[in-house]
Amino acid sequence: MINHNLKIYNTLTRTTEKFEPIHIGHVGMYVCGPTVYNNAHLGNARTFVSFDVVFRYLQHLGYKVRYVRNITDAGHLENDADEGEDKISKKAKLEQLEPMEIVQRYTIDFHHVMESFNALPPSIEPTATGHIIEQIEMTKQIMANGFAYESNGTIYFDVEKYAKDNNYTALTGRNLDDLLNGTRELGGQFDKRGRLDFALWIKAKPEHIMRWPSPWGEGFPGWHLECSAMSKKYLGNHFDIHGGGMDLAPTHHTNEIAQNVACNHIKNPINYWMHTNMLTVNGQKMSKSLGNSFLPFELFSGSHNLLEKAYSPMTVRFFMLQAHYRSTLDFSNEALQAAEKGFARLMNAMKLLDDLKSSTSSTSDISELKTKVYAAMDDDFNTPITLAHLFEGVRIINSVNDGKESITEGDKSELVKLMSSMVFDVLGLKEENAVNTDKIDGLMNMILDVRTDAKSRKDFSTSDLIRDKLKEIGFEIKDGKEGTSYTIN
Ligand SMILES: [Zn+2]
Repeated sequence: MINHNLKIYNTLTRTTEKFEPIHIGHVGMYVCGPTVYNNAHLGNARTFVSFDVVFRYLQHLGYKVRYVRNITDAGHLENDADEGEDKISKKAKLEQLEPMEIVQRYTIDFHHVMESFNALPPSIEPTATGHIIEQIEMTKQIMANGFAYESNGTIYFDVEKYAKDNNYTALTGRNLDDLLNGTRELGGQFDKRGRLDFALWIKAKPEHIMRWPSPWGEGFPGWHLECSAMSKKYLGNHFDIHGGGMDLAPTHHTNEIAQNVACNHIKNPINYWMHTNMLTVNGQKMSKSLGNSFLPFELFSGSHNLLEKAYSPMTVRFFMLQAHYRSTLDFSNEALQAAEKGFARLMNAMKLLDDLKSSTSSTSDISELKTKVYAAMDDDFNTPITLAHLFEGVRIINSVNDGKESITEGDKSELVKLMSSMVFDVLGLKEENAVNTDKIDGLMNMILDVRTDAKSRKDFSTSDLIRDKLKEIGFEIKDGKEGTSYTIN
């Protein structure tokens, strides 16, 4: 059943709008993925956890969602104004590795981080280098439509020409003249005509490693082009949702819209633009130069000097959900420790839920609680309010468990359905001991294999020693026809 009350804050219109998909029952969503030249950072993780909740909730409502999140493995220069070296090439030179070794290493790291946060993989995860042909084709089309020009082997998008008939700054609402005045004058080093023009295809200098043949000589795609080319390929010329960090809106996303419009002859290529806000640490902007920027794995291990202890991935995910995705999120030990307690309280209640005793009457209104929870999620994915209502559910569970309140069988099953679908399926939280159980299981099987091996060699003193030692620490071993099993006492 598709819920018809979902509202999304649209950066483009600066209003909260009712969500209406282009094709009934289907949603196409594109989110700008990471540039894989170093370890996944926490700001990115927050953005992708936020869109994971969007993806999960849309699916929960019954939509068939095609979620495309790219991997930028070429074309992202150090400076967003088409200057400096390719970030991946630079790292490759520094570490004396092939660019694709850098890409592989940090793509694996990124996936590992996202898995730790229990984020679902997107439906398609395309790479820039895998779509060079599409990017060349798009450049050709934009040129054919008169919105790009060649200059010394580099193809530039003609912003001035585009802005004559289109609102170039629609996404941010900035004034074009102010923007022009704030951009520095073109020096002699540039081949472009207008100050705001940006490169679709960049001529490769002799020392540039990542290069491809094109109709304009050897070069590589500009960073903004990949997202236009890949969203067009997998979601079409007109799709529902485009997301990313808010830092991408003024340049990357603004240029994406211009490319889409100039190439595809469509006025409004994307219906809803969603942007996530920044992270702060103890109230300050998170930045490398301030020394307050920690990586997800430093949070999980507690190895950064600003962290008093380690925080588990689910504590951090829970903590992230306590702020709305459009608000800044401030990391501090106090806030993380409060989140740790809150998450433990939620999980404890979830464990009690199935075994609650039912009565002939209910002291709480479960259907009202359900209405409130869905209303919060429908209000632009408001996870902090959703969590606040779910904690009303926690209060009910604990009171019924303590015998202070009662619940009917029907209400109990509604409460079980509401709490488990929201906590696990939509918010993507999970019981962390479940992970440990897997690990214990793997470890026990390894020990039991060693013991079976000892027995097969008739080394009974070793096999008995393993059995007795395990018993001492609470593992009971049972030898049966199907092999050896264990129980934890
Ligand atoms: Zn992008």
